[in-house]
Amino acid sequence: MEQYWSLIQEKVCRKCIDGDGRGNCRLPSTLTCALKESLPEIVRIARETQGGSYEDSVNALRAGICSRCVHQLDDGSCILRSTLECALDRYYPLVLDVIDEVHLGTFTNAQ
Ligand code: SF4
Ligand code: SF4
Repeated sequence: MEQYWSLIQEKVCRKCIDGDGRGNCRLPSTLTCALKESLPEIVRIARETQGGSYEDSVNALRAGICSRCVHQLDDGSCILRSTLECALDRYYPLVLDVIDEVHLGTFTNAQ
């Protein structure tokens, strides 16, 4: 899991609007990043839906992560998602690419 996280820091956190541009998170201590909190589950979902459509991966994310997240309401809506404040949702395509890269052993350190 360490390898996934270090590549995510390299390729996602560096681009994240909540980061410092060098891979460090600048979220206030009162907030947690769903990507960081649920990484093992996200990796599992990515692997299980690998080769399927992006929509399949998003549906699996909603079922496996969002359904247990404190921010999702009973009607399935999420204020953080609708205001683009959830880094996991915002960068999910990039996250899937990173997980694929680790899985396939094709990751590079190119910026
Ligand atoms: S919010 Fe999440 S994705 Fe963004 S920098 Fe922090 S840990 Fe990385
Ligand atoms: S989109 Fe909303 S419900 Fe899903 S992980 Fe992010 S904050 Fe939680």
